[in-house]
Amino acid sequence: MGRARMTWIGTSWKMNKTLAEARAFADGLVAARGAFDGVRAFVIPAHTAIAAVRERLPSHVPVEIGAQNAHWAPAGAYTGEVSMGMVADAGATLVEIGHSERREHFGETDETVALKVEAAVAAGLTPLLCVGEPAGVRAAGGEIDWVAGQVSRGLSRLAGHDVGRVVIAYEPVWAIGEGGREPLPDEIAPVMGMLPARFAAAAVLYGGSVNRRNAAALLGVPGTDGLFVGRAAWDVAEFLALVRIAARARHAGRPDAR
Ligand code: PEP
Repeated sequence: MGRARMTWIGTSWKMNKTLAEARAFADGLVAARGAFDGVRAFVIPAHTAIAAVRERLPSHVPVEIGAQNAHWAPAGAYTGEVSMGMVADAGATLVEIGHSERREHFGETDETVALKVEAAVAAGLTPLLCVGEPAGVRAAGGEIDWVAGQVSRGLSRLAGHDVGRVVIAYEPVWAIGEGGREPLPDEIAPVMGMLPARFAAAAVLYGGSVNRRNAAALLGVPGTDGLFVGRAAWDVAEFLALVRIAARARHAGRPDAR
């Protein structure tokens, strides 16, 4: 896969939404199926809702489905886990790996991230490799080295030619979730410029406190192929508002200009 020519907009629902709520979101996507021109959209439900969303979205609605996590082993005695093959079977085409909440609460390390990236590629899934520095590292000016190190270690089990199958999401820990601080475009620009310069990934997304007010400016940061959104996209109308902003940004000349 070469460098992105579409603008990506995706959301992870984290541990939210019943099956009924997930289906209602999917129905909203179907109703807006004309909105996705030039946009590579994805939604990442909880595992319980992947198949329901897949079944609800006809193939002509160009929205991919992801999983929030999967184990690196193909099968076996891992109670409570699901494999890459299982999430693919349920309808996922991409898988989130290494989100900071999983690193913080579930013991995810660069080593397990690398195993999962390798397993995802082997299963034909797109790994969405999440990286980002905590506030203390940023305060000390260490974000470039921190993020480059996380990406290098996360990709360390891949053959070079498979790096182009990975999507990187730069999500500074200080910007994510409740209590996260919206970044200024200038604050993320050095990392967003470094990532495509150093890693031949399929795309590089920014995530952390994105909303419909700051989306256009963040999409304008050089090196940014799209946005990965949490809270501000859990309502389908808000998600579609971001999709429209991305479509307008693309029609205004980026990211093809890069
Ligand atoms: C996230 O947790 O990956 C995220 C992007 O969250 P939010 O948009 O809510 O900050």
